[in-house]
Amino acid sequence: MDVRTSERVQSSLLRRMRTVDHAEGPWLEIDGRRLLGFCSNDYLGLAQHPQLIAAFKRAADDEGVGSTAAHLVCGHRREHAMLEEALADWTGRERALLFSTGYAANLGVQQALLGGVDGAICVQDKLNHASLIDGCRLAGAELKRYPHADPAGAARQLASRASAPALLATDGVFSMDGDVAPLAALAALAAREGATLMVDDAHGLGVLGEQGAGSVAAAGLGEAEAPVLMATLGKALGCAGAFVAGSAVLIEGLTQFARPHVYSTAMPPALAAAALAAVKLAREEDWRREKLAALVARFRHGAAELGLPLMDSPTAIQPLLLGDAEASLAASQALEAQGLLVTAIRPPTVPSGQARLRITLSAAHEESHVDRLLEALGRVRPAAAGR
Ligand code: PMP
Repeated sequence: MDVRTSERVQSSLLRRMRTVDHAEGPWLEIDGRRLLGFCSNDYLGLAQHPQLIAAFKRAADDEGVGSTAAHLVCGHRREHAMLEEALADWTGRERALLFSTGYAANLGVQQALLGGVDGAICVQDKLNHASLIDGCRLAGAELKRYPHADPAGAARQLASRASAPALLATDGVFSMDGDVAPLAALAALAAREGATLMVDDAHGLGVLGEQGAGSVAAAGLGEAEAPVLMATLGKALGCAGAFVAGSAVLIEGLTQFARPHVYSTAMPPALAAAALAAVKLAREEDWRREKLAALVARFRHGAAELGLPLMDSPTAIQPLLLGDAEASLAASQALEAQGLLVTAIRPPTVPSGQARLRITLSAAHEESHVDRLLEALGRVRPAAAGR
């Protein structure tokens, strides 16, 4: 074992990959045991929907499995084009462009917009997803971070630049905290400072806003205020992949210059067909968002009664902030012993001293599942460090 890995073992920070032998709704079979999972990002319960599966199979029968090439070569199929149109329409943007992953999309946008631009800066929330941070570094732009959800801090960072072009980038919903970015204030700031606002809505799309159009729509903002919208297909939409939506000019620029789009094989057309079916369901089936919201409320009420260290999150991500990595791991293991899979999230994914149980809820859960989770938490009694 190399030194850094053994250091992780010493400090309860070793990451361990589990093999799921079978998944059925929120249930996961691991090592011969059936566990009730509270760790997936399948917020609307679409990952196993029969319409997605049928669309996937139909397209695979018609088109085969691989797209065989990058979009600009000959990999851009009818399914991709239809999906891009549907995503643009859903998010109220002129156009959308697919990427194979959200990670690649965040690299591609920043590299296309900031790469090679003299003095360019990217101002980012301290808790932004790793791919936004990495994207800025790869673009060679100067990274300036501000305290979490603090528009005044962002303003200070923007004011410190001369006249250089600036991107102001934030998660719409923060992946490990579940809270929503102060988007209206950030949009006003970007407008005032002549910066471009980019929102990564991986965890907001499908969950927030009318017809699930996401955190930006929920904040009453459109393309003019938040010109660069990125979101993924692997969370509420139950598929995989990602897209960027915005003006025709933005999308043309990404098509030309975003290297992860230009130089990477297009996602399988069958996946695009499944995602198209998912977009339709996510837009039309409000009951999924309503059910999810009711489960979130039930969980928060029960967890507050138990005195658990809830964070201030209105979304499907409901972390319990324990602080200590070892305690978080022990709580996760104690829950697993009771048949529940809840992941411990530890540094460096979260800041030091802020380890937690990341509980995620889904429309695939039932009230009885939430109650079972609360009962188990009541027995385990995970507490914040120092309590
Ligand atoms: N942005 C955020 C906020 C995310 O949580 C994630 C996934 N964890 C990504 C981007 C990356 O998306 P993908 O998994 O499609 O690479």
